[in-house]
Amino acid sequence: MEIDTTYDFSSADSILSLQNKHFLSHLTVIQRQSKYYQEKFETLGLDFSEIKSLDDIHKIPVTTKEELEKSNPDFLAVDKKRIIEYVTTSGTLGDPITIALTQKDQARLALNECRSLDLCGITSDDIIQITTTLDKRFMAGMAYYLGATALGATVIRSGIGDPDFQWDNIKRFEPTVLIAVPSFAYKFGTYLLSKGIDPKKTSVKKIVCIGEPIKDASFKANTLHQKLKEVWDVELYSTYASTEMATAFTECSAGQGGHLLPELMYVEILDENNQPVAHGEVGEITVTPFDIEGMPLLRYKTGDLARLHNDTCACGRTTPRLGPIEGRKGQMIKLKGTTLFPQQIENVINQITEIDSYIIELSLDELGMDKLKVILPDTLDTAVVAHTQRLLQQRLRVNPILEQNTQAYISSEILPKGSRKPRRFVDKRELVH
Ligand SMILES: [Zn+2]
Repeated sequence: MEIDTTYDFSSADSILSLQNKHFLSHLTVIQRQSKYYQEKFETLGLDFSEIKSLDDIHKIPVTTKEELEKSNPDFLAVDKKRIIEYVTTSGTLGDPITIALTQKDQARLALNECRSLDLCGITSDDIIQITTTLDKRFMAGMAYYLGATALGATVIRSGIGDPDFQWDNIKRFEPTVLIAVPSFAYKFGTYLLSKGIDPKKTSVKKIVCIGEPIKDASFKANTLHQKLKEVWDVELYSTYASTEMATAFTECSAGQGGHLLPELMYVEILDENNQPVAHGEVGEITVTPFDIEGMPLLRYKTGDLARLHNDTCACGRTTPRLGPIEGRKGQMIKLKGTTLFPQQIENVINQITEIDSYIIELSLDELGMDKLKVILPDTLDTAVVAHTQRLLQQRLRVNPILEQNTQAYISSEILPKGSRKPRRFVDKRELVH
């Protein structure tokens, strides 16, 4: 696949004019095809002709995850015959949402991942081992597969888990790149070490990290990043995407946030009142992905919180860069007046080398207040448990309840039956009602 990177290095004005062009044709498709937006505009007394350019985008109300969940079929903007695939979100915060793809949407996904891998300096000479799920209605694994093959690279579909099989693939095919959830890549690396294999001496030169942040808000390596570096000593690239937006932000080798692909999406960072935050402030990532046929979206609020950086990157690209995810809107925890996100707890626990498995559980107490528990393996020494409690208190000024349970219980909570993505955080607050 031929890719055009001209606009990655263009002036802000020409990037905006490119985005305007894509936005207006996207809007025309929505006006003509999307039952959901036709009705929404009509209810609000908003005429499509009032939106003349991206300058008017603020006149369009945002689209929430709840809307997409509740009126899911109404978002479909093509005849069902044209759908070639259904994928769903992972449903970590509720029921999974279905997204229908047309042939053009799939080609767009391939282009998106091709562009993303190119940002990581990956070429047709690379051999890429994909260690994520490729089935189970999961979009990301398939998108990587499409992008990597479109780039002309070689792909090994390793799938999730199974370290012996992953190692067999490395031995056999000598991949230069792993696409992996970073905590899995770390676990896999330590597994290799336990077998007397040094991950630093394998063919792997890069890991494209998906699903978990490896940097803090100021782009400093977090504990996961440091641990990965100790085991693998390879180049690490962050990437952020979701099923609904079907578009990725991917880091270049400068590692200063994921670059926006300007021809594929417009991004806004909004506050709780859906107003743009001040430059460089944290807010909710809100996206308008262009050129989608199946289920086009306008100003979709992702629920993920991050900052946008607009200065030119060290790599020379002028496209906006998205900082690491600092939290999820629905996952905000309020504990005795302190507000925090699970990611902050993970960052602290990841520093304790004795703990390689745990789950953070949030529920409501009898007064309806947030109750936070961290469940650690029962094999762990009580001194380590006490140390964890102290460290959480020192760093975050919170005192979660620390409990111990069997490894089998923790593993089943991390990757519940039928799940595609490991998790460290379980929100049981909604179950109470
Ligand atoms: Zn860059």
